[in-house]
Amino acid sequence: MRYVIIGSGVAGIAAIEAIRSIHPVPARGTDGGEVQIVLIGDDPYGFYSRPGLAYYLTGELHDKALFPRTAEELRKLDFRVINGRVTRILRAEHALEVEGQPAVSYDRLLIAVGAQALPLEIPGADLEGVVKLDHMADAKRILKQARRGRTAVVVGGGITALELAEGLLSRRMKVHYLLRGDRYWSNVLDERESRIVERRLQEEGVTLHHHAEAIEVIGRNGKVSGVRLLNGETLACDLVAYAIGIRPRTDLAKQAGLAIDRGILVNEYLQTNDPDIFAAGDVAQAYDPLSGRSILDSLWTPARQQGYAAGLNMAGRKTAYIKAPPFNVTRLAGLTTTIIGTVGRGRDDDLVGIARGDSETWRQLPDSMVAQTGFEVNRLRLLVGEKTLLGAIVMGDQKLSLPLENIISGSVDITPIREKLLIPDARIGDIVAEFWASRKS
Ligand SMILES: Cc1cc2nc3c(=O)[nH]c(=O)nc-3n(C[C@H](O)[C@H](O)[C@H](O)COP(=O)(O)OP(=O)(O)OC[C@H]3O[C@@H](n4cnc5c(N)ncnc54)[C@H](O)[C@@H]3O)c2cc1C
Repeated sequence: MRYVIIGSGVAGIAAIEAIRSIHPVPARGTDGGEVQIVLIGDDPYGFYSRPGLAYYLTGELHDKALFPRTAEELRKLDFRVINGRVTRILRAEHALEVEGQPAVSYDRLLIAVGAQALPLEIPGADLEGVVKLDHMADAKRILKQARRGRTAVVVGGGITALELAEGLLSRRMKVHYLLRGDRYWSNVLDERESRIVERRLQEEGVTLHHHAEAIEVIGRNGKVSGVRLLNGETLACDLVAYAIGIRPRTDLAKQAGLAIDRGILVNEYLQTNDPDIFAAGDVAQAYDPLSGRSILDSLWTPARQQGYAAGLNMAGRKTAYIKAPPFNVTRLAGLTTTIIGTVGRGRDDDLVGIARGDSETWRQLPDSMVAQTGFEVNRLRLLVGEKTLLGAIVMGDQKLSLPLENIISGSVDITPIREKLLIPDARIGDIVAEFWASRKS
């Protein structure tokens, strides 16, 4: 049985770990020839933490700290690595074409090729000095070009754009940050949260431009020299960094005739419409039996969990992947922020959203996550459903994030506290903390 995995990201590696949990590496001298695992990846740096790239940019992490597995740990999983790009899946032959290399046959295939940054499609976007943050190579390119005293323009409204702005700022560049709308990340954060982030950015020295859209990158001798905005203004700069969204890499699947929508469609066993081909991670749009919908996730933990479940299923142990509510810890302008479950605006009209600022008691909650203290901002926002909490944003002090994750992912009945939470100006942090403590005792 030959298992082939395309993509050396977290989904691909987790799949190998799962396959090895069922087919352990045979002891030396015994015949283990019946199971082969082959990993084909086109990233010369192999398996590393892509979320960690932001900390590498700011200089908080050395590139050596970005590798979640040591060479020895990977070696123990006993798989063959082919460095190269898969260009075609030949389903009838159960084989793959790899650029410049012999074809590779498979019995079971996992497509774990992730998502890629959307390109900046304006004139001048191909000039030297226009950069994105997708791979390790991008991060190294940015570091080469980021020089003290020079000026950067950052384009994009989400976390990665913010990470770019902060990374360049920490390299002592002057940073202009262009926001298309009237505030930062408005489809996830509420007005107050956006303003908290923006104020902190401004305090750090970032120049914010609202309602600003780049329409052209201007160059001199092939290099960036400025950005022209829709309002006619031109900003002189030496670097343009953009993060305007991502797109699952569905080309291989499309060419192979697999079912795709926004990502590769897979059932709860991560299996495509071809029973020998699986997909996991950022590229997969997985069926969620709980909601009856196919969902695209673009986060590290779901990618790992999907990869692991896919590996088990490939090796014959039927295991459904059940999506947990999203739980994402990130840092927005230096402020630790946890986003749990549903928090965005728009879809869920029947939800009640409440948000409150600082409060003392919940910072002393004994059994929760290690707190990051010393913030001057602490803010909690809850999305209160009929009987359960559906989402939360915890900014600053993190003592409540793990209890809230448990309450939200466990669909805990909050009837005892729902009314109290909805009283205007209620100390919602305290109420949640007491509720959690009473459940634990
Ligand atoms: C800058 C940045 C910050 C992020 N921050 C966070 C965060 O704070 N929290 C969070 O949860 N997530 C974050 N993410 C997202 C997270 O990194 C991804 O969800 C996760 O890495 C997805 O893993 P994956 O294995 O599906 O895909 P990937 O990690 O993208 O791995 C896919 C691999 O397949 C390779 N590949 C693609 N096509 C081919 C081919 N044809 N042949 C061979 N190989 C191929 C790619 O080069 C890549 O190495 C961040 C991502 C980035 C880029």
